[in-house]
Amino acid sequence: MCLFLTELKFCFVHVNWFFSMIVNNTLEYFPAEYTFGVFSLKNGIEDVHHTIVSAKIPLGYRREALEISQNSHKIPIEYEGGETDFAVMYGKLANFLESRKIVDQYPYLYTRKAFIREAQSLIARLCNAAQQDKEQFKIYELESLFVHLANELFKKRKDRNMDLIPVYAHKIFENYTYRFDKGFECHFHKYVDGGPEYCSKSVLQQWAWTLCDEFCTPLNVEMQPGIHQPNRFDRNYFDERSLMSMMNKLQVRNVPQATPETDGVLSITGVSEQHRWNRSSRTYQEEMRRRNESKPIQVIDYSQFQDGTNTSNDKSSITKAGQSTKTLIEERTEYLNEKPLRPPNIDRGRGVSNRSRTFQSRKAPLGKGQGHT
Ligand SMILES: [Zn+2]
Repeated sequence: MCLFLTELKFCFVHVNWFFSMIVNNTLEYFPAEYTFGVFSLKNGIEDVHHTIVSAKIPLGYRREALEISQNSHKIPIEYEGGETDFAVMYGKLANFLESRKIVDQYPYLYTRKAFIREAQSLIARLCNAAQQDKEQFKIYELESLFVHLANELFKKRKDRNMDLIPVYAHKIFENYTYRFDKGFECHFHKYVDGGPEYCSKSVLQQWAWTLCDEFCTPLNVEMQPGIHQPNRFDRNYFDERSLMSMMNKLQVRNVPQATPETDGVLSITGVSEQHRWNRSSRTYQEEMRRRNESKPIQVIDYSQFQDGTNTSNDKSSITKAGQSTKTLIEERTEYLNEKPLRPPNIDRGRGVSNRSRTFQSRKAPLGKGQGHT
């Protein structure tokens, strides 16, 4: 039975949307991006069908669409390169799901309880456009799938409480555990701030990892990074070599020029972003001079000199080390044209006495916003 369960395929769906409207007493959502993904506990997300919708936004809804996009998924309205025809979109989806049909029935679709309406809206819109029956697609709650699996598989986990399964089911997909894991976004969200959090493709992956984390162990499925959990779980993922190669590839790019829109926005001090950059950044010549004048860092390990068994040879090196620190500080001071730092004053007999300090700190604060004395 368990072998069967590891290979059983579930189809997930997630929809991002631009705006909602009430049609015939039901709330309808206009899609911005959607992903259908085939999942099994054995292979994780096996196959995805991802679409960005570029269909024309009806007059009167553009503002809402812009605002919702800005505050969440960031997909521009009527984005070039997406799909514009809902009938064509239906054809592509049907084609994707065709090979997954079981006895002429499309696979059941699962989405989180919070997104059921959005998914139903999408199916209805695509089916309408292609004049197909929307009843051929059944959408269920991901939470109820979780409950079914947990009722069976939590028996094999000692660290889970069977009585809490309904609570787990409704809380577990809200966790932030995987929300910022990069590398599974669509081509658009790869370069967008907050992409992993909002991209439909990424969201499906997060659901998959959540299920794998709970149910792979009881089914004896070995957890593999990139399939059952994010890549960062791979022990070798951040080894020294890859870190070095990442550092070598690191590039500092020029700050992008402000667009006319951002240029027009002034901060609270009345200064535009563009002007601030022009004024405060180094010029190329300044940067080159700074690099030429910089001195290599010298590391002095004092722990070597504090050992009581120092030989006379070591003593001479202490003096050397002391001298070199001094010269370093002097050079640095010269270079920065600053006064050297004064050693801290630890003489308790001078300055403000402890008593008067205590008195000052006990004084009640004045002014607004202090609701108590
Ligand atoms: Zn995306």
